Order: sequence, then structure tokens, then C-alpha cells
Amino acid sequence: MTTEAGGMRAAETGTHFDAVVVGAGFAGMYMLHRLRGLGFTVRVFEAGGGVGGTWYWNRYPGARCDVESMQYSFSFSEELDQEWSWSEKYSPQPEILAYANHVADRFELRRDIVFDTRVTGATFDEKAKRWQIETDRGDKVTAQFCIMAVGCLSSPNRPRFEGIDDFKGPIYHTGEWPHEGVDFTGLRVGVIGTGSSAIQSIPIIASQASALTVFQRTATWSVPAWNETLTPEYLKAAKANYPALRAKARARPTGFYFPFNMKPALEASPEERQKLYEEAWERGGLPFLGAFGDLLFEKAANDTIADFARRKIKGVVKDPATAELLCPENVFGCKRLCVDTGYFETYNLPHVKLVDVSKKPIERFTAGGIVVDGQEYPVDSIVSATGFAAMTGSFDKIAIIGRNGLKLSEKWRAGPRTYLGLASAGFPNLFMITGPGSPSVLASMIQAIEQHVDWLVDCLGHMRDVGAATIEARLEDEDAWVEHVNEVSKVSLRSTCSSWYVGTNIPGRPRVFMPYIGGFPVYVQKCNEVMSSGFDGFVLEGAAAINKPPEVRYTERWRVPLDIEVISPAAVAARRVPVV
Ligand code: FAD
Ligand code: NAP
Repeated sequence: MTTEAGGMRAAETGTHFDAVVVGAGFAGMYMLHRLRGLGFTVRVFEAGGGVGGTWYWNRYPGARCDVESMQYSFSFSEELDQEWSWSEKYSPQPEILAYANHVADRFELRRDIVFDTRVTGATFDEKAKRWQIETDRGDKVTAQFCIMAVGCLSSPNRPRFEGIDDFKGPIYHTGEWPHEGVDFTGLRVGVIGTGSSAIQSIPIIASQASALTVFQRTATWSVPAWNETLTPEYLKAAKANYPALRAKARARPTGFYFPFNMKPALEASPEERQKLYEEAWERGGLPFLGAFGDLLFEKAANDTIADFARRKIKGVVKDPATAELLCPENVFGCKRLCVDTGYFETYNLPHVKLVDVSKKPIERFTAGGIVVDGQEYPVDSIVSATGFAAMTGSFDKIAIIGRNGLKLSEKWRAGPRTYLGLASAGFPNLFMITGPGSPSVLASMIQAIEQHVDWLVDCLGHMRDVGAATIEARLEDEDAWVEHVNEVSKVSLRSTCSSWYVGTNIPGRPRVFMPYIGGFPVYVQKCNEVMSSGFDGFVLEGAAAINKPPEVRYTERWRVPLDIEVISPAAVAARRVPVV
């Protein structure tokens, strides 16, 4: 039942499904595929006009992945791995979207997805033990299971700057970019923000615009991507070893493979550090953080990599005042590290200007510009690269009501509370994929998605096998998990700065470190243990002797041996703090 063309369709009312999935990004797509494998009836609702989620919405110039494409892709089908060929080390958004469409076609996903339809409400009917799901198109359906595949970075943050409605030109958000593209040729453009979306788009916007003004609140750490075309020879060799690469990736704290040096930076001599940083810089990208083992745990160690990266910025940017402004003061890699192509070089162009809004914020928009510290910067178009209400933003937009009228938004008012980032007490049969409290955005997300889906499908298959009606996280186990997630976050320097990881990119949100930073394999082991023990921490109702180990259909491939040599210090530390 596809409405991909966005045309009118009759509202669907009264239909019951085994499962409703909200979202058709990579998470919703894989969930649908696996649920079908169980023989479940499934309806997927997607707000967008097509599959791909992030890659459907984020069409801004320069958008591409920053985990290498050979790893930033599904691993569940070896045939898929073999038949698809990535063109670049970090492939561009159109290609990733084409991949999502290919997956949808190959696994015939579209027939169970309804597009252009936003889920507005989900209410648990305690008597019927079903979820009632409502959409903005008038649909009212029921399902035994409701699975939120709504994405961690899917709710754009659009600050309401004073005078925003006075501005006469267009304002674009990177996360909701027009499908037809935007031509900035000859225009004066203002870009607000210097996170990953901004640093990818700024060099390209600068190549078109007659003048570009970048409004920077916090300087960004960025490492060159050194992106390159993948040759047929490279692809052939890489594909010959694909299963081994995928297995190695699963054992890594980040869920993707790259060389990781466990040696502490502080044990190396300055010369050795310089040499290793240069080598890691030459490899580029996120793996730069793997140069030493203690970089995100010891401030003094972090200072060494920060000094190195500051020297790199100053080596590129010719104007000393601009270079100084571009040098971050916070911990290196504290916010999500950026990966760029020609970002700092852009500031050497005569028509590109950097405006500091860290101490004096943007005052207001006018009809033709942006005012900072009493000075108006004239612009014809504005690009809001201001990020997302991360992790919980898309949950907040749905009225999710569990047992006894409990609202999820109320329960999460002081920060999200989940058991394993999979479920939340009071909300039986409601699951989330890469929810807060799971590694999610701290891992390569497609791996994180696949692990969650495989676990969930084994769980739901088990429930059907034993005739269980509901499953619900136990409050005390959830509390212990939330406590553990908080404790572990304190071992990392990442918890020290303001970022979307902690919700403070948006005023008024509670400061809570939302993803689980204990390392992907440690987390996976915990999930596996919960399953093997017969769903420890969950209450299953509706059948006798149901808390027994399930038949494992898909989780098996996540039973990777924990290789301590490649576990990050965070993971090691995670085991020292009281673990539930
Ligand atoms: P999404 O892709 O966000 O999909 C969620 C879907 O749910 C969306 O299509 C949305 O429309 C839909 N939805 C939400 N609410 C509702 C509702 N109420 N009703 C109906 N539909 C709804 N991660 C990496 O690991 N590596 C990368 O290189 C990387 N690059 C990124 C680049 C950008 C620009 C961004 C923004 C994120 C990037 N990420 C990256 C993170 C990325 O979000 C994930 O990798 C992944 O695509 C998430 O898939 P998902 O299906 O969980 O969520
Ligand atoms: P982001 O990292 O949150 O960056 C938003 C930027 O906007 C920040 O510089 C922020 O400043 C600024 N900002 C927000 N509100 C502002 C205000 N009121 N005034 C001035 N500046 C303001 O968002 P993003 O760049 O969209 O990236 C989000 C995440 O998506 C990334 O961290 C990454 O995980 C993913 N992503 C990945 C890629 C990739 O390379 N593959 C590309 C894009 C996105 P502060 O820092 O001061 O808050």
C-alpha cells in the first residue's frame, strides 16, 4: 500500500497488525524485513515521501557519510554486500539514498510502507493489550507491537531568532533541504552553525555564493576526510574479505573497524606523539581519534591532540585572527568530531567571513540580514545548519501514552529513561530502535540498528512461540540501567562539554548524557545476557513459563567474542563501575 507519489488516499481505520513501525529510515526498513521473515503483518508509517530517513531529508550540498561506506551499510545480507558497489570512500547523500531505495526494491519493502504520513499518537489499550496508532492522515489502526524507528537525528532544531518572519529571503534547514536543490550562484549567503552539516556544506556554498558569512557559536574540531574514489580493484579485494571486515567491526567499541592504538598518549614521547598524530592525520576521518587509547579519558592526553589539531588549523588559515577564532577551546572530540573536505581552506577565500556569536549571540534577523552586536550582515539566503533535537526530539512529537495514562513525554521530562535503550517501563510492547541509553550515535549507526532489530525480532518471535501477550521493562532494572548509563558517561571527557549528546545544544532541555558510552561490544554482551537469561529485566505476561531463553534466530551473529585488546578504555572502565 504505497503512497509514494504523495497522492490522496483513504484513511485506514480498524485494521489490526502484529506490528506497526514508525519511520522508514534504515531502522524501519530492516525492522520490516525481519518482521516479515517471522510472518508478522506489519504497517510502516513514514512522514517523508520515500525511504532512507536521514538520507531522504538531508540533501544539503556536500552531505555524505563520515563512516566509510564499505562499513556504513547493512551487513545482514552477504548477497547485498556483494552486489552493491560504493563509488567513494565516503559516498555522497544521493548514492546513500539510492542504496536505501535499492534495498527497498530488492526486499520488496514498499508494499507495507505508507509514505507522507506522520504518526501523531500511540496509546496502549490495557484491556485489549494493543497499541492504537493515529496519524495525521486520519489513520487509526491497532497493533500488538509498536516499534519506534523514528531516528536519533530526525527532528530539526530551528531556533526562533527574533525577527525571523521579517527576513525576506529563503531560510533553509540542512535537515529539510529542498529536493530540487538550491543554487546559491551570485547570492550573499549566511550560514548559522559550524557542526558536521555546516562544515560539509560551507565549502560548496562558498564556491557558488558571491559572499558567505558564517555565524559561529562554537568552533569545531574537524579532521580531513581525504575522500577518494574506490577503484574496481579495491572493491574486489575488499568484497573478498567482507564477512571478516563485518565481524571485526562488530567487535569494536564503535561498531566499525579502524586501526586503534591502545597505548596512552601520555606514555609516548613528544616526538612519538607527533609522528603518530601525523600518520593518523594522513589517514584522516574519525579514526584520527584512535591515535592513542586515552584521548577521551585523560584531559592532559587530550590536550596533546588538541594542540596538534590547532596547529593544523593555523597552518591552513592565513588570517591569524580568523585562524584563532576557528581554533576550538573545548576537549578534542567532545562534541561529535567533524570530517571535512576543504573546510578550513574555505576561510582563505576573500568573499568568506567568519562572525563570532559565542559571546554576543545573533540579535535578530532583519528583512535583508542578520544582526550581531549591533552590526547588520546583509544576506539574501540563510542556511540554518543548527542541528537537531537529538535522541528524543521525534519521540516528543508523538503523543505516546502507556499504562494508566502515563505519557512518555512526562516520564522523560528530566531526561529519557529506558531499559537498554530498547523499552521503557509503563509502555508494554513499545520498542525503540537505537533509543537513548543504547550506543546508538556513538556507534556506526547501521550496525547499532541491525543489532537492535535482530534482538527485537528474536524477542518477538519468542513471544509468539510461547504465547506471551505483553513484555515490559521492569522499573527497577530500568532505573539501574539509567544509573549505569550516567555512571559510565562520567568516565569520558565527552560528558564535559555542551553538545547534542547531552541535550544542551537547545536551551531548556535537561542535561543528560543520552547515548550509552560503555562501548558497543559491552552493550551487545549485556543484551545477549538478557536474552539468554530469559529476558532478565523484563516482565512477560500471558503464558506460563515464558521467561525462558528463546530460540535465537538472528541474534547469533552478535555473539562476538569480547576482544579486550580492541575494547576502548570506556568499555574497560564500564566494567569497573557498578554494572546492573
Ligand atoms: P532516520 O534515518 O532518522 O529515520 C527515521 C525516520 O522516521 C525518518 O524518515 C522520519 O521521517 C521518520 N519519522 C520520525 N517521526 C515520525 C513520525 N511521527 N511518523 C512517521 N515517520 C516518522 N551515522 C553514522 O553512523 N555514520 C554516518 O556517516 C552518519 N552520517 C550522518 C549524516 C547526517 C547528515 C545525519 C543527520 C546523520 C548521520 N548519521 C550517521 C546518523 C544517521 O541518522 C543514522 O546513521 C541512520 O541513518 C539513522 O537511521 P534511522 O532509521 O534510525 O533514523
Ligand atoms: P550540530 O552538530 O548540532 O551543529 C549545529 C550547529 O549550529 C552548532 O555549531 C551549533 O552551535 C549551532 N547552533 C545551534 N543553535 C544556534 C544558535 N541559536 N545560534 C548560533 N548557532 C547555533 O548539528 P549538525 O551539524 O546537523 O550535526 C548533527 C549530527 O548529525 C552530527 O554531530 C553527526 O552525528 C550527524 N551528521 C553527520 C555528518 C557526516 O559527516 N556524516 C554530517 C552531518 C551531520 P553550538 O555548537 O554552540 O551548539
